[in-house]
Amino acid sequence: MLLVEDDDAIAEPLVKGLERQGYSVHRESTGLGGVDAFRSSLPVDIILLDLGLPDIDGYEVCRRVRSDSLVPIIILTARGDEIDRVLGLELGADDYMVKPFGFRELIARINAVTRRSQSAGSPTEDVTKLTGGVVIDNRTRRVTVDGEEISLTRKEFDLLALLASDPGATQTRETILEQVWDAHWYGPTKTLDVHIASLRKKLGDPTIIETVRGVGFRLRSSTESDTNS
Ligand code: CA
Repeated sequence: MLLVEDDDAIAEPLVKGLERQGYSVHRESTGLGGVDAFRSSLPVDIILLDLGLPDIDGYEVCRRVRSDSLVPIIILTARGDEIDRVLGLELGADDYMVKPFGFRELIARINAVTRRSQSAGSPTEDVTKLTGGVVIDNRTRRVTVDGEEISLTRKEFDLLALLASDPGATQTRETILEQVWDAHWYGPTKTLDVHIASLRKKLGDPTIIETVRGVGFRLRSSTESDTNS
């Protein structure tokens, strides 16, 4: 586990506590140090990332790590601002915790994020073809539209994969938040709408994902508006 946190008063008890739980923790106190540690041969299965760092900030660390890895990232932030939260998730962080947070809550989040990333790597139905020329490869987690690959964040992919698991069926907002985020997601449900909007934009056809007002979302079923496929 990699902890990137410049504040000793937070980092030191955190490292002690995590080690007591059996985690092996490598701590860095700068953003660049964190990126270097991640790119070194250190085994890093999860990153706990502070946003306010003395050199490059946590967002930039997140962006650099995400450019070549899907390692789970939990952002630790002193800022409670919703904009910060959405931005962090948009950059591909898996979860965030607002300081001060409880240690048990952190362990629960670590377990949830690790579990999700492991199940995401397990083989399921390899390829799902959807209406609108959208093809999802669940094994490589790649999505193409009319043969062109589009770049999705981890959450956007999980969201699309969930909707595609039963095309035409409505997934409630609650189910989506539970399955794609966390059973203990207390954040703003607006985050879901932000991700849906971004996914629609990337798919190039906003009607592929239909809003079921007051309930949730579903994929447009191919029989309604597609003549081919
Ligand atoms: Ca800090």
